[in-house]
Amino acid sequence: MAGETVLIVEDNAVNLELVRDLLEANGYCVQEAISGEGAIEKTRLLQPDLVLMDVQLPGMDGLAVTRKLKSDPATKDIIIVALTAYAMRGDAERVIQAGCDGYISKPIDTREFPKLIAQFISTAPRKE
Ligand code: MN
Repeated sequence: MAGETVLIVEDNAVNLELVRDLLEANGYCVQEAISGEGAIEKTRLLQPDLVLMDVQLPGMDGLAVTRKLKSDPATKDIIIVALTAYAMRGDAERVIQAGCDGYISKPIDTREFPKLIAQFISTAPRKE
């Protein structure tokens, strides 16, 4: 099933394009933010089904953004999946502690990626 809205938060143009193309090819509606502040604004405004969160962002990083979104009743139920730059020891723990619902390691496995996204979305609380 697709048609759900995914907000990609990514400051790297190449990664952003790759992820956008993959999601669009699988039928998702894609929105983008290139900064932490933009991510908060767009999540509140668009109420996406899932936010794909880059951890390393200029200014407010992805973990701080996640904490903020998860502490706000208006956005706390939105699934947030971190995109971690490399499978660094301790990274998984950090993103889960910040409130992320899960994580996907970069570089992205283009075959597995759409399946993972679909799985994460299927765990979301139903919208009224
Ligand atoms: Mn980045």
